[in-house]
Amino acid sequence: MTADHPRAEVVIDLAAIRHNVGLLAARAAASGAETMAVVKADAYGHGALPVAQAAVRAGATWLGACSLAEALELRRAGVTTRLFSWLDTADVDFLPGVANDIDLSVSSAAELARVASAAARAGKRARVHLKIDTGLSRSGCPAELWPALVKAAAAEPGIEVVAMWSHLAAADEPGHPSIDRQAERFADAYAIARDAGLDPLRHLANSAATLTRPDLHFDLVRPGIAMYGLNPVPQPEDLVPAMTFRSSVVLTKRIAAGESVSYGLTWTAPRDTTLALVPVGYADGVPRTLSGRMDVWLGGRRRPVAGRVCMDQLVVDCGDDEPEIGAEVVLFGTGRDGGPTATEWAETIGTIDYEIVTGMYRPRVRRRYV
Ligand code: PLP
Repeated sequence: MTADHPRAEVVIDLAAIRHNVGLLAARAAASGAETMAVVKADAYGHGALPVAQAAVRAGATWLGACSLAEALELRRAGVTTRLFSWLDTADVDFLPGVANDIDLSVSSAAELARVASAAARAGKRARVHLKIDTGLSRSGCPAELWPALVKAAAAEPGIEVVAMWSHLAAADEPGHPSIDRQAERFADAYAIARDAGLDPLRHLANSAATLTRPDLHFDLVRPGIAMYGLNPVPQPEDLVPAMTFRSSVVLTKRIAAGESVSYGLTWTAPRDTTLALVPVGYADGVPRTLSGRMDVWLGGRRRPVAGRVCMDQLVVDCGDDEPEIGAEVVLFGTGRDGGPTATEWAETIGTIDYEIVTGMYRPRVRRRYV
């Protein structure tokens, strides 16, 4: 298959990534903050290395990964930007993290001890961001243990406390009372860190807070989803979706009114119609739960998918139109032309667009950058 007749392909628009990061970095800079581009989970399915490079070009001065392995992959690929990783299992050795200048999150005394041990073995101080749990109740140090953690970190010669940080639970619902409550707890934790003699950078804001709460930008913001052009807040923002999911027509056929289509024969043609067969299915990231509830963009307009989405294929109802074999089919894209978007898919099946784009990282789907 050529680029013009893909089976299953996601096209990543790096100019869109640069545009979105530029917008976020400008918002951050307006309040004196830097930008950490969050490229975890292979950059939300967009490809960690090309996205990291585009984000840095557009003004990000930090990169955020989830696991140390994700951060190390970028470092080993030649990325020299400050890298931060925040979630690993108890068997992970932080030594390569310290050796490769990866900033590490610490939520507990046990984690601090493991990072200090890695620092001792590396013969080098470890750069640490202490995490306070301000109410999300995932990782992060509980408030009652924070004074002891801060004191221990300050006293540990192998540890350089670079920053303190937390994560918001409901920033995508502007005005949600938890946002101010978390900000207050963050301020209390900062005061305790200062009393212990530390002078950490602070970071708290995800995309939603970067867009709506400049008072919570502090030294650094950590946007993810908005970089990819998906807007997490109700207000409109000038963001451009970076991922387009494409396929192409492999076969067309006429069927008579009354004939049914796809497994279970759940869709019956109300009139004579032309069907177009498209070789993508749930093995390629089209949720089967979209069966009967999705359109594709084909031949300059939306057209409904007839019947069930299969593992490797779906069927489009084209009425009296006769698409060319090889014609482009857009499963989701920017939506600018009126076609379907990842956000529309998510709303239809009751999930979030994060899950849709992140789920596009799969071996059967080719990725192409433009
Ligand atoms: N910071 C942390 C710790 C995260 O886990 C995430 C993603 O969930 C982000 C920042 C970015 O969040 P968002 O994609 O909502 O901007």
